[in-house]
Amino acid sequence: MIDPFGRRVSYLRLSVTDRCDLRCTYCMAEDTEFLPKADVLGLEELARLSAVFIGLGVRKLRLTGGEPLVRRDIMRLIGALGAHVASGQLEELTLTTNGTQLSHHAQGLAQAGIRRINVSLDSLDPALFHQITRRGELAPVLAGIRAAKAAGLAVKINTVVMGGVNDQEIDRLIAWCGEEGHDLSLIEAMPLGAFSTGPAFQPLPLSVLRGRLAQRWSFAATDYSSGGPARYVNILQTGRRLGFITPLSHGFCESCNRVRVSCTGRLFLCLGHETGTDLRQPLRASASDEPLREAIRQAIGHKPEGHDFVARRANRQPLARTMNHTGG
Ligand code: SAM
Ligand code: SF4
Repeated sequence: MIDPFGRRVSYLRLSVTDRCDLRCTYCMAEDTEFLPKADVLGLEELARLSAVFIGLGVRKLRLTGGEPLVRRDIMRLIGALGAHVASGQLEELTLTTNGTQLSHHAQGLAQAGIRRINVSLDSLDPALFHQITRRGELAPVLAGIRAAKAAGLAVKINTVVMGGVNDQEIDRLIAWCGEEGHDLSLIEAMPLGAFSTGPAFQPLPLSVLRGRLAQRWSFAATDYSSGGPARYVNILQTGRRLGFITPLSHGFCESCNRVRVSCTGRLFLCLGHETGTDLRQPLRASASDEPLREAIRQAIGHKPEGHDFVARRANRQPLARTMNHTGG
């Protein structure tokens, strides 16, 4: 799958549910209404759709949500997708999770062929963690991360940085990741969802934060890439990597190899554009995969060159679509 700008699409982020047990302020409104079950793809449909994408050249598949581990029987899907890793068709199967259910699933994830996962963690302070997630308990998440490590999974921590909320926490997170042996990626909060223009939404350019961090930590350049949008440095004091995901202050679109499919089967060619292609209709209309393949090929031919988050933020026009629908 090659898009009009010559970029090879080999990375699929698949949202398996819009539901979540947390309500992070930058991701969901407190009173979010979840989709009717009939609108959401079934586990078999998700497995079939994934197989079609793999047949078209996807080599890396990340499950996301909502919270993927709150979806009932999710381990069935993960097992089915793991078979593509075992057969060598898929180079990597991975997952982004909030970690609340990780203690129960870490072993199963490792057995299914998952080697590394991303866990979102915005603070090591229980009260602040509870405030940002509007309901979360920190202890089970930390226990889940320990369980993942014990199961042999490499854990990367993802932290959304909000000025005046958790930007003072980053030194502590860097030190903790060093002690625990995790890489860390810092993410600029993106304007997604109507609520993201409110006071809780205070994106801080990571270039500013990086300057601040550099006063305490020594960074060494590295050209390491995990195949995603993060740009990394090595931290000399901890020996771990620190990634910067900077959609607002520094675009990463020129090397974009990703597409996303929402839990309703909508294919989004770019996180920053509303337009998408419905794959649920061809998926449900025919037992043959050909109409689905054709819909995907056509859509890839319209992948936009890049997002326009900067203009959207300046004009206070966030995307109506929220992260829990699209999948982060
Ligand atoms: N529930 C899982 C989790 O939190 O890791 C997976 C889904 S979540 C939508 C995926 C990632 O998107 C998380 O790392 C989260 O912090 C990030 N995210 C959500 N809303 C965001 C926003 N407005 N800007 C930047 N990142 C966001
Ligand atoms: Fe849930 Fe993840 Fe969104 Fe937080 S960021 S509300 S954990 S989906």
